[in-house]
Amino acid sequence: MSIDNRDKQGRKIDYLRISITDRCNLRCCYCMPKGIELLEMSDILSFEEIESIVRAFAKEGITRLKITGGEPLVRLGCEELTARLKATAGIEDITITTNGVLLEDKLEALKAAGVSGINISLDTLDREKYKRITGFDKLNKVLSAVDAAIASGINTKINTAVMKGINTDEIPELARLARDKNVCVRFIEMMPIGYGTQFKYADNSEVLSLLKREYPGLKPDCERHGNGPAVYYRAEDFKGSIGFISAVSGKFCESCNRMRLTSTGVLKYCLCFEDGKDLRKILRDKSLSEELKEERLRESFREALSKKPVEHCFEDRDRISETKEMFRIGG
Ligand code: SAM
Ligand code: SF4
Repeated sequence: MSIDNRDKQGRKIDYLRISITDRCNLRCCYCMPKGIELLEMSDILSFEEIESIVRAFAKEGITRLKITGGEPLVRLGCEELTARLKATAGIEDITITTNGVLLEDKLEALKAAGVSGINISLDTLDREKYKRITGFDKLNKVLSAVDAAIASGINTKINTAVMKGINTDEIPELARLARDKNVCVRFIEMMPIGYGTQFKYADNSEVLSLLKREYPGLKPDCERHGNGPAVYYRAEDFKGSIGFISAVSGKFCESCNRMRLTSTGVLKYCLCFEDGKDLRKILRDKSLSEELKEERLRESFREALSKKPVEHCFEDRDRISETKEMFRIGG
């Protein structure tokens, strides 16, 4: 019997983003600035709990996973968890999003775990600015991890969150990485979630115009590059490509394929709204047998399909109900 994983809008939901920790080794100003209070470890889902959710959801049609955080690589055993999740029946693909600081040392284990794609967040190529944005002097470490990830043969992308007046001047230079290396550089519009509200977003159409002036050969690239809504461009002399995730200016909700699991076990239906289902409560309910827990988890996924909003409302801040910061959601 085939699985019906379509929501009310008929969208096939087969992709789950899992935030495995709220901890991070950086303090990006738009995500988790200094002074943030962290949760108790007991509030965070255990690896066994995450595995139970993935096992249940795979039976409901989830086939692709993204491991995110906080910073996923600061959680001890992240590589082993990744391997176990990839080995779950029904899971076809697993990718990871990281700030890259700890990546080089863990690359081999991630490759062995079956990770097919690595997204590395990098907002600037200027060492001082990197320190100002993230609070730490780690630019060189991250650049070295980018090269190591490319050399490993794993599909590598760079995610740049664009903040008007802060890193817009570096857009051509960041894009040059895609010309010179086999990497996809993606420009992400700053979303008005968490501390992101404090920064001015730059419309990706402006970013594209600027890049077309610098690289006139850029043309749309229709090849599929991943799980998400990015639109891609490349030029003939480029080794890699350039992507645009226009989360604010461009509504790609029609083709949304995802749910999100926060580090505390809330199944989120849409980035914009706080509605979700507390799966931790099910997992920690001592009155339920393992079979019943799995049934409740599967029911929760089906409930999520029926509750998933039609579209986000980033253009109307008064309607955004999500109050959690991005490091708790996972981006
Ligand atoms: N620590 C990992 C990292 O930095 O890649 C994974 C978690 S981080 C929350 C995931 C992504 O969300 C990063 O690329 C980050 O730049 C992005 N992000 C955080 N806050 C954002 C916001 N308000 N708007 C757009 N992207 C945001
Ligand atoms: Fe940490 Fe990633 Fe948030 Fe930066 S964007 S503070 S690296 S979770």
